[in-house]
Amino acid sequence: MRCAVCGKESEDFLCAKCASERLRLASIDKLELVVCSRCGRYKVKERWKKLSLESALSSSLKVLVDEKFEVDEVKVQKNLVTIHGRFAGEELKVSIPFNYRIVKICCPRCSRESGGYYEAIVQLRAEGRKVEESEVERAVKIINSMLKGEKNFFREEFRKEGIDFYFGSKEIAKRISKQIAEEFGGYVLETKKLHTKIDGKDVYRFTYLVKLPAYKTGDVVEVEGKLAVVKSARKGVEILSGKTLEICKAKLVARKDKMKKGYVVNFDENVAEVMSDFGLLLVPKPVNVKIGSEVFVFEYNGRFYSFESS
Ligand SMILES: [Zn+2]
Ligand SMILES: [Zn+2]
Repeated sequence: MRCAVCGKESEDFLCAKCASERLRLASIDKLELVVCSRCGRYKVKERWKKLSLESALSSSLKVLVDEKFEVDEVKVQKNLVTIHGRFAGEELKVSIPFNYRIVKICCPRCSRESGGYYEAIVQLRAEGRKVEESEVERAVKIINSMLKGEKNFFREEFRKEGIDFYFGSKEIAKRISKQIAEEFGGYVLETKKLHTKIDGKDVYRFTYLVKLPAYKTGDVVEVEGKLAVVKSARKGVEILSGKTLEICKAKLVARKDKMKKGYVVNFDENVAEVMSDFGLLLVPKPVNVKIGSEVFVFEYNGRFYSFESS
């Protein structure tokens, strides 16, 4: 096979050099390092560990690589990750800078030691899937920014499908659940249970179930017969027209991490020709397409579609 761009003999439709210039062969998930403000332990892969900042960073970094990029070694130095490996039978080195944020919370052990009283639980769950780590981290960030050092500590408990946050105050739990639902595009269900009686008065415990939508940013959904890429909690961009759509009652069509990448080789008014792992495809012409554009490709109802991957 020859490289579609430079014509060099290659094991793939792009050679290593052209692929590294045109495709994003590796990327790094946004990193937030969670640290306990009381004991200083870092939370790494659901465990609280006494670590140096450097080793906490390198064990938390998630490097996503193209499936054709065979990785031999990943090195983390300060704010740079270097990946050594092979692509289309050639050696390749890719370096990516990264940034991180530190999120301070009270770890479960320290919370237990400081007393277990709570008035309300905020439960984070998602429609038809598990809540992802990145979503937990985003929720923790929202909680931290809303608590702003108020003494109302919270504790967290991981569940199979998501996470529960415990709050000393019902008002705060209510406000926080609303805010999380707002930012993720989900909704809140409130329930209460009789907890105890104090001086003859009923005292309740409240649960705020925050339900996140099945889809996330970057996924493709169908809204009123149109296919759109999810851009934020309630906005999407239609792949054929480029118009912004309100996302409401949308159906998940394709997950970003399940889509294949391709490469536009030709197009006319209506149709684009895309070289991809599925072979050479004819797809409805996506908006803003150029020859050489890197695109995502997915199949839906027996047809292939693509859109620019930016
Ligand atoms: Zn090439
Ligand atoms: Zn702690």
